Amino acid sequence: MAQYDPNNIFAKILRGELPSYKVYEDVGTLVFMDIMPRSDGHMLVIPKTPCRNLLDASAEQLAAVMATAQKMSHVAMRAFDAQGVTVQQFNEAEGGQEVFHLHFHILPRRGGDTVRPPG
Ligand code: 5GP
Repeated sequence: MAQYDPNNIFAKILRGELPSYKVYEDVGTLVFMDIMPRSDGHMLVIPKTPCRNLLDASAEQLAAVMATAQKMSHVAMRAFDAQGVTVQQFNEAEGGQEVFHLHFHILPRRGGDTVRPPG
């Protein structure tokens, strides 16, 4: 597996070098809106520390990110008026990953909708 690249887009967002619409932050994680939402209210949960993807994650990073993913799933239900939530995560290019900093997609869902495919 390739090394973590500190110049990936999410690392730049974390350093404040690129703008993002932030919705939640705690000591270990950041949540912001996806720039190309695949459902209304599509959010991304990332760890604040370097991590390429699930294959590279420490137990501490995973615990922090999953706790925030659960919080944001509740936010999706309440603030984004969802009736369900899809959580997605991709690893390496062959696994569908495009940005190489660990992230979980939080996709609010409503009856009869479809999640648009990535890309
Ligand atoms: P992946 O396929 O790596 O799981 O998904 C990467 C996600 O990052 C995509 O849903 C894409 O729309 C989102 N994304 C890519 N560049 C930016 C950006 O500059 N800002 C934000 N907020 N999202 C981005």
